[in-house]
Amino acid sequence: KEERLMQSEKLSTAGQLAAGIAHEIRNPLTAINGFIKLLRTSERKNDNYFSIIESELKRIEFIVNELLVLSKPQGSHTSKPIDLLPLLEQVITFMNGEAALKNIEILPPYLEQSIWIHGEANQMKQVFINLLKNAIEAMNSSGVIRIHARPFDNEVRISVQDEGCGMTQEQINALGKPFYTTKETGTGLGFMIMHNIVHNHGGSITIESTPQQGTTFTVTFPIIATEE
Ligand code: ADP
Ligand code: MG
Repeated sequence: KEERLMQSEKLSTAGQLAAGIAHEIRNPLTAINGFIKLLRTSERKNDNYFSIIESELKRIEFIVNELLVLSKPQGSHTSKPIDLLPLLEQVITFMNGEAALKNIEILPPYLEQSIWIHGEANQMKQVFINLLKNAIEAMNSSGVIRIHARPFDNEVRISVQDEGCGMTQEQINALGKPFYTTKETGTGLGFMIMHNIVHNHGGSITIESTPQQGTTFTVTFPIIATEE
């Protein structure tokens, strides 16, 4: 079963996002505040308190870093023609280490021609990094992640297929809500960020998923040129 995401409805309005950020950052702030008070009043220095403060600060830093990706300039001035295959190969190389730790193999796409799309290369990389990261995190042991890229008329469809835990319809519906995560240390921002980037590049994302079997995310972009 395939689910096409409704861009405007599901995706974060500014207010929803602000509420989410406020909530996510307030929790670690409250904790930091509390432990600093404890340290101030306690006789001896407690290393445990310091580690909690450190990890809560890291969490805030992590959230802020993810959010910064969203605020990066996405004007036409940074947009250029991008050759898709080398970009995908760079991303695969970048993610191979994390995959290898779990004995996961990432299979690159086989393309007979080069495909050019228009966009901001760093943001485009971010899309595939987030997709691969989620694919790796969804698999708890060895397996294969397959990337396919195929031109269809004046569009290219790039899919990332994993053998992971899959998603229920309910989970698919919740995707795109800022801070929706099922992971203990997840931020729930990855999908929202990539969806934003894809949307800004005139593309779309579809999801096919079967619980316990795996998930395929497919992103579609307009092609500006192909070359034999
Ligand atoms: P995070 O990875 O920090 O949890 P994301 O926005 O990247 O945030 O993903 C949100 C949620 O969507 C994940 O917590 C997970 O439940 C689900 N998800 C995303 N990608 C996959 C996938 N490939 N397989 C299974 N579930 C996924
Ligand atoms: Mg993620």
